[in-house]
Amino acid sequence: MSPTIAENLSAIKSTLPENVRLCAVSKFNPASSVVEALEAGQFLFGENRVQEASGKWDELKEKTPLWQKAELHIIGQLQTNKVKKAVQYASCIQSVDRIELLEEIQKQCVKIDRKIDVMLEVHTGEDSKSGFESKELLMEAVKMISEGKFPNIRLIGLMTMAPFTDDVEMVRKAFSSTRQLKERINVEYPSIPLTELSMGMSGDYRIAIEEGSTMVRIGTAIFGQRDYSK
Ligand SMILES: *Cc1c(COP(=O)(O)O)cnc(C)c1O
Repeated sequence: MSPTIAENLSAIKSTLPENVRLCAVSKFNPASSVVEALEAGQFLFGENRVQEASGKWDELKEKTPLWQKAELHIIGQLQTNKVKKAVQYASCIQSVDRIELLEEIQKQCVKIDRKIDVMLEVHTGEDSKSGFESKELLMEAVKMISEGKFPNIRLIGLMTMAPFTDDVEMVRKAFSSTRQLKERINVEYPSIPLTELSMGMSGDYRIAIEEGSTMVRIGTAIFGQRDYSK
């Protein structure tokens, strides 16, 4: 028999250093799986599609009083027209990849009078398109945030997805360059100290931790293989 969600969670948590948070990536998994994780004491979740996440979170409210403890981070590419809903459901948007998105997040947060945490996504995977188009644009975003242009947004760190490759050194380089970028930002913009580095998935989180990750985003190793046919 395959291990339960609770067993997978406790196995992973036992390997994580104290300062590393676990974000359980529940995309493509049903609300019932999130309930299982909540009951096992896991309260932070990552989803990459707002539509799927909001539907699931509405379902959670019917299924368990623990829904109040569930915290949602958006980790996938976010379309501008989904921001309104994203800021209603999520406590953090990790996948900010353009200045225009910051502008829309700011606008929608003002409407509902809230502040939100964000991370900026660093493009490190050659094959993937996710993350800021260039380091210059990312630094421009940091500068704008430091100047107070987005008062409802709190920048807490950087996020990256390493390239999908068996080349361990390439993966390690993606993580270490993201850590170095965070250190550089903290030197150049001491008024907005970044504390978070969201790096590492099921296949590479051990390397990410060695390179300074403070948050790993793990799906498959907790919930099993995703069924994309649904
Ligand atoms: C799906 C996803 C993950 C989790 O990946 P696993 O390999 O299932 O652990 C982490 N981060 C992002 C951005 C994802 O889209």
